Amino acid sequence: MYKLNAHTHTNFSHDGRSTVQEYLEMAQANGMSYLAFTDHFDTEWGTNEQTFAHYARMCQEIASKRLLYPDIQVACGLEIGFWDERVGKDGLVVSDESELQLIHKIQKETCVEYCINSVHTTSVLMGTDPKTGLPMDRQTGFERHLQIVLQSLDAPYHYDTIGHFGFCTRKKRFENNALFYGDHQTTIDKILDGIIAKQKILEINSAVGQSEMECLPSAEILKIYKKRGGEHITFAADAHEAKALLHNFDKVRQIALDAGFVYYTIKKDGQLKMVKID
Ligand SMILES: [Zn+2]
Ligand SMILES: [Zn+2]
Repeated sequence: MYKLNAHTHTNFSHDGRSTVQEYLEMAQANGMSYLAFTDHFDTEWGTNEQTFAHYARMCQEIASKRLLYPDIQVACGLEIGFWDERVGKDGLVVSDESELQLIHKIQKETCVEYCINSVHTTSVLMGTDPKTGLPMDRQTGFERHLQIVLQSLDAPYHYDTIGHFGFCTRKKRFENNALFYGDHQTTIDKILDGIIAKQKILEINSAVGQSEMECLPSAEILKIYKKRGGEHITFAADAHEAKALLHNFDKVRQIALDAGFVYYTIKKDGQLKMVKID
């Protein structure tokens, strides 16, 4: 069986608890073929020269340790947080020049080769409508989240993959805490069509938190993605410690097969490569 994970946080992330070496040991012990390290890049914390040095050190660490594990294809990457505050009143993405320059510098000058684009903080998680100050209902909150995901497709930096689509369900704020296709069909269709048109990868994230979906996105949405022509998927455990590296791998593999997918897509040496789900 081909085993992989394309979403991993080491202790170079504020919330990662295992080292690069610990992940690689675990990957080898489990016979994994591909592992992408994707530590957080969230400029809400501010950017400065230290920030670049931090990612340069992370790259050095990955580049030196992966030499010890020649049987595993190891990609060095980032999970870039797309903030909803970047979406201006006119609906356009507001880009901070220093932040953008930093992303571009990292992508150009380090060995980072795989980037996930993720929406984390949205007002749905904060619970109030930014315009009215009133509590949001489920339909409004999830729709707002999805509109930001749609905006994120046009992020002004390079990325390969859309991260944890359905993140708005990870923290329970509503009963029936799942993203149903039928409730947001128009927006979900636009997002899926955008991913397909831009030839991005849709990760299947097995860290569901308090979501009532089996994975992010759900099996229902994955089937729609496939039906609309989507072909690039990957497995993402969103691991924050080494023991979570293959969390729910078998379950997600089966969901992908049931939705009609035959390949995972991985990024290595600058190329997207399709590997058979076996
Ligand atoms: Zn994330
Ligand atoms: Zn993550």
